Order: sequence, then structure tokens, then C-alpha cells
Amino acid sequence: MSAIRILALTMVIASAAPSAQTGGTRWTTPTRADVDAIYPDIEALYLDLHRNPELAFQETRTAATLAARVKALGFEVTTGVGKTGVVAVMRNGAGPTVMLRTELDALPVEEKTGLPFASVVVTKNAAGQLVPVMHACGHDLHMAAWAGAARVMAEHRDRWRGTLVMVGQPAEEGTAGASAMLNDGLFTRFPRPDFALSLHDDDTMPAGTIGYHPGYFRAMSDAVTITVYGRGGHAAMPHNTVDPVVLAARIVLSLQTVVARENNPVDPVVVTIGSIHGGTQGNIIPDEVRLQLSVRTYTPAVRTRTLAAIRRIAKGEAIAAGAPREPQVDAPAVAGAPVYNDPALTLRLADALKRGLGEAEVVEMPQKMTSEDFAQYGLAGVPSVLLHIGAVDPAKLAAARDTGIPVPAPHSPEWAPEREPTLKAAVRAEVTALLELFRAQ
Ligand SMILES: [Zn+2]
Ligand SMILES: [Zn+2]
Repeated sequence: MSAIRILALTMVIASAAPSAQTGGTRWTTPTRADVDAIYPDIEALYLDLHRNPELAFQETRTAATLAARVKALGFEVTTGVGKTGVVAVMRNGAGPTVMLRTELDALPVEEKTGLPFASVVVTKNAAGQLVPVMHACGHDLHMAAWAGAARVMAEHRDRWRGTLVMVGQPAEEGTAGASAMLNDGLFTRFPRPDFALSLHDDDTMPAGTIGYHPGYFRAMSDAVTITVYGRGGHAAMPHNTVDPVVLAARIVLSLQTVVARENNPVDPVVVTIGSIHGGTQGNIIPDEVRLQLSVRTYTPAVRTRTLAAIRRIAKGEAIAAGAPREPQVDAPAVAGAPVYNDPALTLRLADALKRGLGEAEVVEMPQKMTSEDFAQYGLAGVPSVLLHIGAVDPAKLAAARDTGIPVPAPHSPEWAPEREPTLKAAVRAEVTALLELFRAQ
């Protein structure tokens, strides 16, 4: 018997079981067997995407791969939305319009997982530099689950009514992709969703556990660049120079006081200097050094204060060093947005997921300082929920608690989700959430 026929059969059996909630025969969640039947297909997709990662706004192969899959399932597919995005629509009678979004892009990270299917891809970034590429944030896992959910929904369209909008969004990293799709008519050229959903992998929960957080969940993110100027010269004659390396080092340390001394400790803020570049070799004092920062905040007031403190400290340290020019500080003029999970919708989905997957598999989780441009869909007026899914072997999580050394997390070159339990649970969770939202009110 083919996998598809087994899937169809098991879903009919599942549908015959009375729903605890209604006493009726509503099909609310795929069984484990349903997902087992399609697992080889979604795992093959996952491995293919993992081996072939693409950077933000370069995801042409990735987009074509997803587009071909959903087209074969009967969706109306449009590519090139917001540069490289994919929109797949299935109109299935009167009912709500629900959007399920995945991200397409990978990161400029050299993979060090040691997995047999590890990425060895090297490509040019937007600046033309050669960089290694890896799906270090798990977007490959999100795409495979998204494709699995699309398949289950398409093969069982007799079980729901409404319009399903499957979105493959480019460039989540760098947070430009959601805006690019919205500016390209995501909510005007295509059916405007009543609800938007997404699911992200997570390093703090066991593989397959679903985490939800009503309200503000993920922080705003600002990329800030500081260029400090000195006067270069010979390494052996520092007295004839103004050393921008020492100046930059002072700025790095002084910036730590923004969080530690200037900010109210109850307001979350992160100031990270993730990149510092200057000079070419040890016996030359360079003219300038460039620092790249990531600033995470939750409120406009804290953001404004933090960015002002960064400018003030950079300028003050340059004066103290006798720099010939003020540093240049570039920060985005317009703030991003924190992810806001519509509270009523979040709790509704959490209830449905607990019923479908089991109480212990669905937990409330704390907010995080990481950012997500999924925030843009909520900002555009669509009630939205970003759920997380644990992707770590429970034994490794327990060992990390014992040793105090955290497991690798997304953006680490060693981030390797426990693929089978995570993928399977992700498909079940996405289908369960979609079916809940398509349910007649
Ligand atoms: Zn990421
Ligand atoms: Zn991500």
C-alpha cells in the first residue's frame, strides 16, 4: 500500500473518534501514524534544503523547490513576491483566511555540526564577499514542516473550509523580507489573512515540545555601525598616531555600562558588539576601525535612550582619545517592531494544541531577546502568533542543566535540531493550529 493511501486510511479512522471537545466527529489533529506516513518525504526535503542553503534575498533554488511542491498539491502559486518570496493559495470554500509562514533564508555561518549532510556551500554575500552558508537558524526545518502541513491540508481538504495562504518569506535574517513581501502586495494581491501563524525552532525545550507566549514575545532589533577614526602610522611610533584600535576597545567596554548602569534593570536591553574590524597587520596602526552592533529592546523609549547612549559614549571616547574626527554612528531611523502574539488567539491555539498533542507537549515559555520580522504581519493589522518548538535531545538538555554549559542554539555553527521528533511534531502542530482556525466559529 502506498504511503498516501495509508495516510488517507488512518485519517478516516482518526476522524471517526469522537472529539473530546465537541462530542462530534471533527478531525482536529493528524495522528502520529499520519505524520509517520509522510515523514520520508519531508525528511528528504529537509536534507536537500540543509545541503543547499541560500542567503537572504538569494533564495531562488529554495523558493523554486517549495513552489514546485505546493503547485503539485493544487495550490495557486506565485513566486518572486518581495524579490524571492513564494505565496501559495488554496481556496477551499467559505471560511476564514489563514496564513502559515516559513522563512527561506540561511546565514553566513560555517557549519561545524559534523553531520553527514552538513552544508559546504560558499557563496557571495550582498557585499560581494565570499562567505560560508548554513541553515543555522533552522529555517530548513521550518520549510520542511510547512511543506508537510501543506500536503496534509491539501490531501484532506474535505476536512476544512476557508482559504489557506502558505507563505515562503525571504530574508528573515536582517529583517527585511516580511516588509518586502508586504510592500509587494502580500495582503492586497492575495487574500488578506484573518490570522497569521509561524513556528520557530528553539534550543530551550525538548524536541517536539511546543512553546507559546501570549503578548510581547520577541524583541526589536537595531543594527548599529560605529566607525571610529584615528591617525595611522608605524606600530613602533605610537606617539605619532591616534590609535583607533585602542579607541575601539575602550568603546566596547564603555558600551557595557549602557545596560549595566544607565538602563532600568526591569527593562530588557541587549547591546552586543558582534564584529570589530580594523587594520591589516601587526606592525601598522590603522586609520579607522569599524564596529557592528546588535541592539535589542522592547519599547520605543528604551530604544531611543539606548541608541542615544551609544552615540554619546562613542563621541565621548573619541574626544578622550584626541581623535581627529568624530566617530560616525549609523543606526536605523525607523524602529522595527517586537513580535506581539495576539493573547486571545495564542491561548485559543494553546488549548487546541494541548487537546491535539497532549498537555505535557505544550508549555508556556518566557519572552526572548531574539527578534523576528514576523512582527510585521501583526503590525499590518493581522492577529498573529509565533509559536516555538523545542528541537533538542532531552538528554542533552538535562546534561546542560547539570554542567551549566548551554547546548548550541540557533545561529551557532553547531546548531543541529533533533530532526525526526521535531519535524514530526512541527507538522502535527501546524495542522492542528490550522484546523482550529478553520473551524466554524
Ligand atoms: Zn535567525
Ligand atoms: Zn530564524
